Amino acid sequence: MSKMIFVSNRLPMTVKVNKGSISYEKSIGGLATGLKSYHEQADALWVGWPGFSSDRMKKSVLSEIQNSLLGQYNCFPVYLTEKDVQLYYEGFSNRTIWPLFHYFANLTEYDEANWARYKKINEKFYQEMKPFIEEDSTVWIHDYQLMLLPEIIKRNHPTVKIGFFLHIPFPSSEIFRLLVWKEEILKGILGADLIGFHTYDYVRHFLSSVRRILNVNHRFYKLNYNHRHIEVDAFPMGIDYDYFSKFQVDKKINTNSEIKNILSVDRLDYTKGIVERIKAYATFLSKYPKYIGKVRLNLIVAPSRQSLPFYDQLRSEIEILVSQINGKFSNDEWIPIWYYFKSFSQDELIAYYRASDILLVTPVRDGMNLIAKEYIAARTDYLATLIISETAGAASELSEAIIINPNDEVQIADSIKLALDMPKAEKIQRNKIMHERIYRYNVNFWATEFINRLENISFEEEIKLPVEAFINKPEIYDKFDQSKQRIFFLDYDGTLAEFKKTPMQAAPNKALKSMLLKLANNKKNTVVIISGRDHETLDLWFGRMPINLVGDHGLWYKHSGKTWKKTVNIESDWKPSIKHVLDMYVDRMPGSFIEEKSHSIALHYRQAEPEMVSVKLSEIKDALYSIKGTTPIEIQQGNMVLEVKDQRVNKGNATRLFTNEKDYDFVLVAGDDTTDEDMFKALPEAETIKIGFGESAAKHRVDSSKEFRKLLNEIIIREK
Ligand code: UDP
Repeated sequence: MSKMIFVSNRLPMTVKVNKGSISYEKSIGGLATGLKSYHEQADALWVGWPGFSSDRMKKSVLSEIQNSLLGQYNCFPVYLTEKDVQLYYEGFSNRTIWPLFHYFANLTEYDEANWARYKKINEKFYQEMKPFIEEDSTVWIHDYQLMLLPEIIKRNHPTVKIGFFLHIPFPSSEIFRLLVWKEEILKGILGADLIGFHTYDYVRHFLSSVRRILNVNHRFYKLNYNHRHIEVDAFPMGIDYDYFSKFQVDKKINTNSEIKNILSVDRLDYTKGIVERIKAYATFLSKYPKYIGKVRLNLIVAPSRQSLPFYDQLRSEIEILVSQINGKFSNDEWIPIWYYFKSFSQDELIAYYRASDILLVTPVRDGMNLIAKEYIAARTDYLATLIISETAGAASELSEAIIINPNDEVQIADSIKLALDMPKAEKIQRNKIMHERIYRYNVNFWATEFINRLENISFEEEIKLPVEAFINKPEIYDKFDQSKQRIFFLDYDGTLAEFKKTPMQAAPNKALKSMLLKLANNKKNTVVIISGRDHETLDLWFGRMPINLVGDHGLWYKHSGKTWKKTVNIESDWKPSIKHVLDMYVDRMPGSFIEEKSHSIALHYRQAEPEMVSVKLSEIKDALYSIKGTTPIEIQQGNMVLEVKDQRVNKGNATRLFTNEKDYDFVLVAGDDTTDEDMFKALPEAETIKIGFGESAAKHRVDSSKEFRKLLNEIIIREK
């Protein structure tokens, strides 16, 4: 196996510095446990923040810590200052991404300074880990604090295999689109070769955001992006089943067998639905008073993120509610809620799990929720009853639990009653199925599955173009230098200029016009702009330049300084019936529009909802083919456009009008679209250049119109 590097915001170590003495403690979190066997391998490394701010630490202490972490624990620290922690971690990570990704759009803050620091720290993580990256390394990046890191590493080390796993939900695209920096975040994540989420819902949400925002489609959870294959899948994180099922507890919780124990355990967080849960428990007591004195809610809230607003407020809200309910329902021998605001060790939690008849897990949103799984695993007597929100990732794997809506207090109250009354045999039956799954898909299985998938990704399958398909500049320059009569057939949209949202936005800018002028002013050169655009528009843009023009895909042409002429006389009695069909679909596809020209009708759908387009397009084509009959038309699929046109009109035929006029010894043809293929085929001897990807008859290929303009500029300066 190649060298593995794990990266997460926090190292799996807690480093404490106290009056000159430094202590190191391994963390027992789920991630550290899952990756333990891989991390312990000799050449593995874990990169992350050691948990303290480095501002007031002496350089010598920092380097001592770095040496010990690296030498003894296979860890490398990324030191963060207080300000870094405040802006990157508490700021962007926990005040922007955390609330938004948990559907708390109203709590989401958009702060430029936080975002700037988030970018800077992601870059810092890269700079720190750079010396350890080898060209065949495998890097697994974790969570929402480091979403830009995959792209940074991929850009600098294309051969490194990169995995990214998001431990929190990925929200619906309707929520995600609210993020000010959504494109940057998606592009950052897409630097990874394998992207993992806890559930298929998150996978779907991610893919639909990628499609809507970046216009990149997927097939069977695979994406083609920037010439790379990227896989996206669900890997529901598991727990250390053996530990939770086998650990022997000696601590006793509520030994009064007359009283049933209901457990609630969370970090303090507004996503966990703690307030709603407490209210639902009060509803239960009011609705089913026979349980007063017979149940007890052990409410464990582990302190978390108290430096942030909302968290302290939430704590007060919880405490007020607990005292109100205890005040209302308590009697001399009994209080309904036992409240703990502190962290428990996992050994202590197991004692609670074993003693609890019910676990209430009712987050409003939760990426996974490991506590639910730990509880089931700890109850080897199969007598657990789990009540869990449908909005917790774990619910998708634990369908034998009682599944509730966290906002429905009455449903939760009724579920507590249902759980208390559940027959033993039914509990056992439900528990056995859940045990089976938690046992099999434990945290080691999770890590191994992800790592194996990542290791098996083959870069040979990458969408690398055949070497000969890339542009051979020396050959083009050589032929250019030796030639005396040259002609350039240049497509416009996607070749000379980038696509824009609407056709008029793509008008030529000064730089483009000046470049074309320089090219055309050389007496040896003849320049022809050959486009699908209507000839009026071309005339408006280039009519006064020493450039020849072909418009409407070859129907109209004009020599520089002369008048426009038609290449063929066309009949268009086929148009009304075609237009009728397209009109019907435009009504049903918001964002699409029809462009009518003398020889063609085009349906543009660049701005229509892509998912709808993929469904409707084949329907439209079927309808068009069924009415085509023997009419002299062809249906041509272009870049976000479906065009029906007179089949005699094409760019290939139009090029011959010019090539027949002179004996050109250098012909350059450039285009990006299917309509340009007609030119490539009509001029097989020419230097034909395809812009972008997809099948082509062209000899050369460049990535983008920007690259192509660069080439033209290089050609221009050869004869200065
Ligand atoms: N946990 C703990 N002590 C506590 C509360 C929680 O050790 O007092 C552990 C718990 O056993 C679980 C983790 O913290 O492994 C919480 O994970 P979960 O996915 O449920 O929620 P998160 O806090 O990650 O949102």
